[in-house]
Amino acid sequence: MNNQQEGKLTRSKILGPVLFSGSEVKRRVFELGNEITKDYKEKNLLIISVLRGGVIFLTDLIRNIDLPLSIDFISIATYGINETSTGVVRITKDLEESIEGKDVVIVEDIIDTGLTISYLLRNLKARYPKSLEICTLLDRDARRITEIKIKYVGFKIGEKYIVGYGLDYKQKFRNLESIYELKIDTVKKDIESIKNSASV
Ligand code: 5GP
Repeated sequence: MNNQQEGKLTRSKILGPVLFSGSEVKRRVFELGNEITKDYKEKNLLIISVLRGGVIFLTDLIRNIDLPLSIDFISIATYGINETSTGVVRITKDLEESIEGKDVVIVEDIIDTGLTISYLLRNLKARYPKSLEICTLLDRDARRITEIKIKYVGFKIGEKYIVGYGLDYKQKFRNLESIYELKIDTVKKDIESIKNSASV
C-alpha cells in the first residue's frame, strides 16, 4: 500500500459527516470579519491567535478585516481535563509583544469547557489591554464549566468531536477545508486521552 492509499484508508475510517462545508465556513468567516471591521474602526486592534488550532481561522479572518491590525501568537497546554478535574493550564509559548493599551481580540478555534480561554483571559487581563474580547469559530456551550462572555461566535455546535479547518485528531486533519465529525465508534477510546493531554 502506498502513502496515498494509506491516507485514504485512515481518512475514511476516521472522518464522519461534514458538519460545515468549506464554503459555509468561508461565508461565516467573511461575516465575522465584517463585524469586527465595524466594531474596531479607530481602534488599536491586536488579534491574538491560540496555537495551533486557531491558526487557519486567524489567517482567513484577518483577510476579511478591512482595518490596520497586528497579530501575535500564544500557545497553551491543558492537562487533566475530565469530569472530576478542572485541569491545569500553562503557557508554552508567550506573546512576542506587550498588549498594554491595545484593543485585543483573542481568536480561538473552539471553546468547549471554557477552561483554556478562562485561564487566558485572566492572564491577559493582568497585562492591561484597553479592551479584551473573544472570537471563536465554534462554541460548544453544552460542556461549559465556566461562565464566559464571547463577543463573536462562528457556529454553535453539539457534543460530537470534530476535525478540520485547523482542528486536529492526533495532529492530523488540520488542513481540511471543511469541518467534519469524527466516526465516534472508531476513535471513541482515544478521545478521553486526547482531552486529558490536549495540545491546543
Ligand atoms: P476547553 O478548554 O474550552 O475545554 O478546550 C479548548 C480546546 O480543546 C480547543 O482549543 C481544542 O484544542 C480542544 N478541543 C475541544 N473540543 C474539540 C473538538 O471537538 N475537536 C478538536 N479537534 N479539538 C477540540
